[in-house]
Amino acid sequence: MYLIGIDVGGMSIKGGVVDFDGKILYKTSIPTTEKYTEDYSISEDIKKVIDLVLEGAKITIKDVKGIGIGQPGSIDSKRGVIRYSNNIALENVPVVEELHKYFDVPIKINNDANCAALGECVFGAGKGYNDIVFVTLGTGVGTGFIIDGKLFEGRECAGAEGGHMVIDMSENAPSCNCGRKGCWEAFASASALIRQTKAVMEKYPDSMMHAFAKEEGKVSGKTAFACAKKGDEAAQKVVDGYIEYITAGLINLVNIFCPDAILIGGGISNEKEYLTNPIQDAVNNKRFGAKFNPYVEVKTASLKNDAGILGAAALVL
Ligand SMILES: [Zn+2]
Repeated sequence: MYLIGIDVGGMSIKGGVVDFDGKILYKTSIPTTEKYTEDYSISEDIKKVIDLVLEGAKITIKDVKGIGIGQPGSIDSKRGVIRYSNNIALENVPVVEELHKYFDVPIKINNDANCAALGECVFGAGKGYNDIVFVTLGTGVGTGFIIDGKLFEGRECAGAEGGHMVIDMSENAPSCNCGRKGCWEAFASASALIRQTKAVMEKYPDSMMHAFAKEEGKVSGKTAFACAKKGDEAAQKVVDGYIEYITAGLINLVNIFCPDAILIGGGISNEKEYLTNPIQDAVNNKRFGAKFNPYVEVKTASLKNDAGILGAAALVL
C-alpha cells in the first residue's frame, strides 16, 4: 500500500506517491490559477494531480491507504474544509467532501506548517522524538507543535500560529500581514530578513552585500549570510540581529512547551549550523531555568524540497 501527499502552494499544486518509509515513487505538479477565487475549482485541480500521480506510479486508488493534503491558511482539519487561505484567496471550500466523490479512501487536510511538523516527525529529523516545536522560516513564519506524539491544533484547528505572537509592542514595530504590529513573523521571516538586509546596506555603501546582490540580481535571504561568512562586518550585523529575533520567539516557545527538540525548516534553514549554533547557545543560556531544566536540541529540518508532499502523506498515518 502507498500514500498520496498533495502540497498546495501559492504557485503550484505538487503531488506524490509515497511509500511507508517516506520514499517518493513518483511526483508531479501543476500550476495554481487565480480562477480558484471565482469558481473554487481547486478541488478539481487536486483531483487532476491525484490522477496524474496514480498514472505515473502505475498504481490504482485501490493501492492507496489514504490521501493527505497540506494547504496554507486556516484549515478545519476535522471537517476537511479550507476555512480561509490568503495566498490563493479561498474561503470555506469543503475540499475533502468534494474529493470523496471521486476517491473512496481516507482523505485528510491540514495546514502546511502542521504537515511539515508531522512529516519531520514521521520521516525526517524529528524521528524518535515525542515533543517537537517546528518552525519554518520562509515568506512567513509557520509553526507546528507535536505534543506527546500528536499534532496540537487548538480549538477547531485554529491554533498553533506561533508566528503571530507579538515580540515588539513599540509604536514603530513593523506591521504584520495579520493586521497587528510587531509579530514574530514580521521580524523572523525570510521577507523580514530581506528588509533588514536592505536597511543595513543603505547605511553601509561599502559593504560586500552590494556587489553580491548585484551578481544575484536581487537582495535575498542569502545575501547577508553569504557575505557574513566572507567576513563582511555589515552583513554580520544583519545576521546577528536576525538570529536574535529568531531566538526571541523560539525561547518563548521553549518556555511554554519545553520540547525534546526545535526543528527549523524553510529556505533560511539551508544555513545549517551557521544558523543553529548561535540559536542553540541562546536557548541553552537564556531560557527560563536554563541551568536546571532539560536540554532542548536545536536542529534543521531534513526533508527539504519534498517536505510538503511527505508531510501531507504523513497525515494519513
Ligand atoms: Zn501577525
